[in-house]
Amino acid sequence: MSMNDEQVPTAECRVCRTDVPAGEFCGLCGCHLTPRRGEGPDWLRIRDYGAAPGENLLQLSLASSLFPHLPPRSRTVFRIGLAVVLVALVAFALLRLPAALVTVAALGFLFLFLLYLRESDAFADIPARTWALTAVLGIGLGVGWVLLTGDAAHFKDNWDNDRVPSINTNAEQTHASHALLAKIVAEKKAALWINHDLPTFDSLKHSPEFYD
Ligand SMILES: [Zn+2]
Repeated sequence: MSMNDEQVPTAECRVCRTDVPAGEFCGLCGCHLTPRRGEGPDWLRIRDYGAAPGENLLQLSLASSLFPHLPPRSRTVFRIGLAVVLVALVAFALLRLPAALVTVAALGFLFLFLLYLRESDAFADIPARTWALTAVLGIGLGVGWVLLTGDAAHFKDNWDNDRVPSINTNAEQTHASHALLAKIVAEKKAALWINHDLPTFDSLKHSPEFYD
């Protein structure tokens, strides 16, 4: 064991041969700095787990795997949070409430992750411009994706009346798309399925039934 410039005791890891802060684990590769009985070969180390000294590699633990920097005292709360999100997802799926399902799926884990960043002091380590860039990229890509994938018509009533969905950027092009689609449907004598339209959806065969 030696002392570096900042007076933090360090030790050389017996596996990765790096000088790391002295402690139970190597901060780089996660092995025990002092060998333990029954640990197995150094390349496997199935009884070690750097994120949580009390757990091992083969133990399924969502909280310490998803939130490795969490202080041990907060793990139980995050386990409960994860369980609440999962139960809500299953419940909304069973109740056939897609809007609530999407909201919980999109915001539930995000909310837990923000709490995790706060609890593990990650906010202090990451510069403000990195946060700003991440937020701008996320919002920009999300809005761009919605604009690119905007549907032609969501409901039969909108189709019948040639209405422009509010997320579309160009009304003229939407009307032109509707006209082109209507022409193709007429020419090919095709059936038009508008997937967000509940009467259309209900009138279609669903798995395990199928169309030839
Ligand atoms: Zn190491």
